[in-house]
Amino acid sequence: MMDRDGNRGDTCVTMESVEYVIVGAGVSGLSFANWLRTEASQRGRPDPEFLIIEADHQPGGLCKTVVQDGFVWDYSGHFFHFRHPEIETWLRQRMPGQEIRTVAKKSFIRFAGRDIDFPFQKNIHQLPREDFIDCLVDLYFRDAAVEVTSFKTMLYARFGRSIAEMFLIPYNEKLYACDLDCLDPDAMGRFFPHADIGDIIGNMRKQDNASYNTTFSYPLGGAIEYINALLADLPPGHIAYRERLESIDLGARIAHTSRRSLHFRRLVSSVPLPQLVAMCGIEVAPEVFSWNKVLVYNLGFDRKGATEPHWMYFPDRALSFYRVGWYDNIMSGERMSLYIEIGGDRNAEFDVPAALERVLGDLEKAGIVAGQRLLSWHSVVLDPAYVHITAQSKREVARLRPVLATHGVYPVGRYGGWTYCSIEDNMVETRQLARGFAENV
Ligand SMILES: Cc1cc2nc3c(=O)[nH]c(=O)nc-3n(C[C@H](O)[C@H](O)[C@H](O)COP(=O)(O)OP(=O)(O)OC[C@H]3O[C@@H](n4cnc5c(N)ncnc54)[C@H](O)[C@@H]3O)c2cc1C
Repeated sequence: MMDRDGNRGDTCVTMESVEYVIVGAGVSGLSFANWLRTEASQRGRPDPEFLIIEADHQPGGLCKTVVQDGFVWDYSGHFFHFRHPEIETWLRQRMPGQEIRTVAKKSFIRFAGRDIDFPFQKNIHQLPREDFIDCLVDLYFRDAAVEVTSFKTMLYARFGRSIAEMFLIPYNEKLYACDLDCLDPDAMGRFFPHADIGDIIGNMRKQDNASYNTTFSYPLGGAIEYINALLADLPPGHIAYRERLESIDLGARIAHTSRRSLHFRRLVSSVPLPQLVAMCGIEVAPEVFSWNKVLVYNLGFDRKGATEPHWMYFPDRALSFYRVGWYDNIMSGERMSLYIEIGGDRNAEFDVPAALERVLGDLEKAGIVAGQRLLSWHSVVLDPAYVHITAQSKREVARLRPVLATHGVYPVGRYGGWTYCSIEDNMVETRQLARGFAENV
């Protein structure tokens, strides 16, 4: 028998049958379960039969929140930028009484001792004079006709040598922890702040740094509040925590988990794609998929520091972190509360206490910590964090999707789909999938 959360008291492996197996209780898995029910109810059909299996003991995936010593921290800042107002409304309807801030982003880049506005390429006029002239001249005389074969060649072709080498290359190498020549030119999709020469020159007189996240919303209880909204309508007994998907027999449509075997009609998975295909016994050359890890520190101090930035970018290779964010400036906190992000390659082994010492030293060097006392801290390694979108990985994702779909297996989400996307994108994608299933019963 399953308890309220779907946890089983016994350990013997049994065979059960369920129409939809959903793997992962992060944004993608929980959204899909909701949309499945919504689509059925809109068509006057009974609730589809589904079970969410989640390896962790709690929901949320990367959208978890840690509350510690009076600080509220996410797995690094997780902010919500909605392009679909109906999705935001749907979530907010399930968050009664909560304070949700809508914040106009203030983000800066630390360069040559100055804090310049993001994005770098549109704010070169804020650089020291010599650097500004180098960026402008190189932008004008860039070799735009060069063949763009990678993210790195795209940066040189679009922005010229100085903009590329002062910020775009060192910053993104710190983040992605790889040679940017390996990445597809469109590796960051709509999240890359493109600007042509007209935008750059025009920005010198009239500032317009609008981007996909010019404003964002954030619940004071942290990102987990959106997860709680996604849990609000799900009937009890449909999530099995501490249950891991281990393998899939594609031909028989059977998912073998750490507890049982589940015969399914459709399996929707937010498990990272390389792991999913390995579980299905599909061979993929090991070099096809690569990714970075991000070590996140959340740090709580005894008093406030800078009052303006929401987050800052650090291209300087001498500093361990590539980005620092101020939760307290978003939540109007009275004590400095930071998230720190450090990139590493997929084989990186982080020495968490030693790296913390270095981070604290680097924060002092950067003038972010100036006498404040660290009261509380937390760390987590996101693995994978940013997937490396390459020509090879794009081809392989396109090849694998139909193979899996033939057997009723559908990868979703940022890691299932091996892509770069937002939380809202995860909700939009799973809504589309559920709608497609409802239309083709
Ligand atoms: C550093 C960083 C910052 C980000 N900031 C933002 C932001 O500000 N705004 C934004 O919109 N997006 C942001 N994102 C993206 C956002 O985190 C993701 O789009 C979203 O969390 C993905 O949700 P998901 O459910 O697809 O995957 P996940 O959150 O990874 O959830 C997958 C779930 O599956 C479970 N699972 C994995 N394997 C198994 C298995 N074998 N069996 C059972 N369960 C399993 C996991 O435990 C997990 O709970 C950020 C990402 C990173 C890395």
